[in-house]
Amino acid sequence: MQTATARRTVGDTPAGGSVLGFYAPKGTPRPPRVARAEGVFLWDEDGRRYLDATSGAVVTNIGHGNPAVLQAMQAQARKVTFAYPRFFESEDSIALADRVCALAGPGLDRAFFVSGGSEANESALKLARQYAVVSGQPGRWKVISRNPSYHGATLGALTVTGDASAHALYGPMLRAQPKVAAPLSYRVPDGHSVESFEAACAQALEDTIVREGADSVLAFILEPIGGLSTGAVVSSPAYFRAVREICDRHGVLLVFDEIMSGAGRTGRFLAAHHWPEARPDLVTLAKGLAAGYTPLGAVLAPERIVDAVAASGGFVHGHTYFTNPLSCAVANAVLDEVVRQDLVARAQAAGAYLKDRLHALAARSPLVGDVRGLGLLGAIELVADKASRRALPVDFNAPARLTEHGLRHGIALYNRRANRGEFGDFQMVTPPLTASDAELDLLVELLERALADLHDEVRG
Ligand code: PLP
Repeated sequence: MQTATARRTVGDTPAGGSVLGFYAPKGTPRPPRVARAEGVFLWDEDGRRYLDATSGAVVTNIGHGNPAVLQAMQAQARKVTFAYPRFFESEDSIALADRVCALAGPGLDRAFFVSGGSEANESALKLARQYAVVSGQPGRWKVISRNPSYHGATLGALTVTGDASAHALYGPMLRAQPKVAAPLSYRVPDGHSVESFEAACAQALEDTIVREGADSVLAFILEPIGGLSTGAVVSSPAYFRAVREICDRHGVLLVFDEIMSGAGRTGRFLAAHHWPEARPDLVTLAKGLAAGYTPLGAVLAPERIVDAVAASGGFVHGHTYFTNPLSCAVANAVLDEVVRQDLVARAQAAGAYLKDRLHALAARSPLVGDVRGLGLLGAIELVADKASRRALPVDFNAPARLTEHGLRHGIALYNRRANRGEFGDFQMVTPPLTASDAELDLLVELLERALADLHDEVRG
């Protein structure tokens, strides 16, 4: 049964009357209109409840409506909501930087706060570039990244995003940057095992650095566990060790985009902590850092880079809302909750619990070909045929169909189809870290209902 809101379609309101017209195809059903949210649930204006199975866009790590965070937000708003950081320091941003860097560990000693993920990646790459210039390597500017990958929607972040469909549209506006294959684990090329493909992907990085000329390569950026790019593919320590060695050998900075995987979601504060051999030079965060209560992103960087840039006159970069005191105060309150509820450990335990149930679901559902992820950064891969791993027809757009079925069953399944399904279709399964076992059971039950509807549709 659909709500009155959901039955309307995008484009049925006069031009200018609908922000939806900007991002949803004309004629698609309008999503429900949100009225309130609490814990792992959202309610629409008709009172229907939806389980937030993906934490929105993998954002609401501590769940919705946390009273302590709301209180901190109100208290900070009464003190000061905006003070431009070039004129005023803010106590909360300093405290947040100290706490985030302590959690990130040695080698990530400084934090720079921005408004979101794309801004964080832009900032990290500009910091890397300025560091190269001030440390006598002005020829280094190329940033190698992986295909598929997602690093943001702004033009700079798009240059390093591995998404052929985005490049087909915006390519003429972008300066091409070298790409190497991401080591997918479910769809490895013929003749490869997962291990040999990982080794080949690492070798491709070295070959690309050499081909491009090591003196011109600034950085290699990757998502240690991909989100909507790879669908939560987890690589082996051998891959990360090889990548680190290659970057060291050629003086290339290693940047981990932890916008989705950071802030505790994978059962460690940073996903990088699962592979101590990786030692990224720069790390970007967003999403779970302020958990959707305010917009916030961060660049974590070593002292040597920040000091060298500061000594040369300071970072030639900034945004109006960088180091925003309200966002930083909220993120401190979010971190308090992460610590108080021991949510990083909970992500690990809940992730293991959920994965067991998703494996059981995969055994029952003809459409689920793979279950993967770490902690609560999980995904299931949707297939037409499990034996051959054949993907569903591209035109069918299974993720969008599943989202629609999910809404009918009271489960919100965020999805965004990267690469026009070139690397298969998957559904992220990334609930808030606060989800109880009973809520995880409900998630799987509702997801199974949505998958059953999808299966009926596939069979025609
Ligand atoms: N990098 C990764 C890995 C992401 O998942 C995202 C967003 O989904 C971004 C960057 C961009 O972040 P934002 O949408 O906050 O700009």
